[in-house]
Amino acid sequence: MAKTSPRIISVANQKGGVGKTTTTINLGASLAAKGLRVAIIDLDPQGNASTGLGIEHTDRKKTTYDLLLNELPLSEVLRETAVPGLLISPANADLSSADLEMVSTARRIFLMSDALNASETSALNLDYILIDCPPSLNLLTLNAMVASDSVLVPLQAEFFALEGLSQLMLSVREIRETANSKLRLEGVVLTMYDRRNNLCHQVELDVRENLRDLVFKTMIPRNVRLSEAPSYGLPVINYDPTSLGAVAYKSLATEMRSRHSLQDGA
Ligand code: ADP
Ligand code: MG
Repeated sequence: MAKTSPRIISVANQKGGVGKTTTTINLGASLAAKGLRVAIIDLDPQGNASTGLGIEHTDRKKTTYDLLLNELPLSEVLRETAVPGLLISPANADLSSADLEMVSTARRIFLMSDALNASETSALNLDYILIDCPPSLNLLTLNAMVASDSVLVPLQAEFFALEGLSQLMLSVREIRETANSKLRLEGVVLTMYDRRNNLCHQVELDVRENLRDLVFKTMIPRNVRLSEAPSYGLPVINYDPTSLGAVAYKSLATEMRSRHSLQDGA
């Protein structure tokens, strides 16, 4: 049977520090632990996903910048990580000028889509591509969403959590109506959840009431292991497999997979 193309998911929220990178790395690693082949595209000039997966700054010769603006194929920018089945296209500060450079190209919003849909991508046999977006709804994020099947939104359980979300949802709708009719919302995952904190619980109820089935049952707890793991260049499921953070991300991967099998009619 012919291999289907990878499912492409943008991990996005224009707010910084809500858990996008942590979710990308650990969801990616959890999917890879299920035997799936996963590529992470680091699309943030800060390069936190690359650092968190152990790629040194000095060791980023071919990057996401080259994928978007130098027509380097995905197969040439992808790097192995310490996790079998988990690859990454690294990012560095070059990306910070990318959106300015993209403005002057004719296919400015389709550069990521062109790169990921290139014919040789199928030879990589990927099941998932996860794009770790920068904390902004800029041209980079727009490129990610135009290239994606869906958008996964990490949402920190705090006051005003829903505020920025409407703007993000509006962008998703606009892209669906113009550049990418298949784009949908993958879902919202609550991050840094503290079950002893009453405000967290109130925010959870509020988010669930508003977004219903879009909100994953799995919530990611605030867990210090999740913040320690990146300095060892490892996902938490490798750094401390029994930590609450590791258990939560494995459960998120399982929940997402079962949604996908339902959608695929499997
Ligand atoms: P973003 O990519 O949205 O800017 P990050 O994933 O980098 O956010 O997370 C911001 C900071 O919070 C990082 O230092 C990260 O290690 C920490 N962090 C993220 N999720 C958790 C969590 N569930 N528990 C504890 N610390 C977390
Ligand atoms: Mg980040």
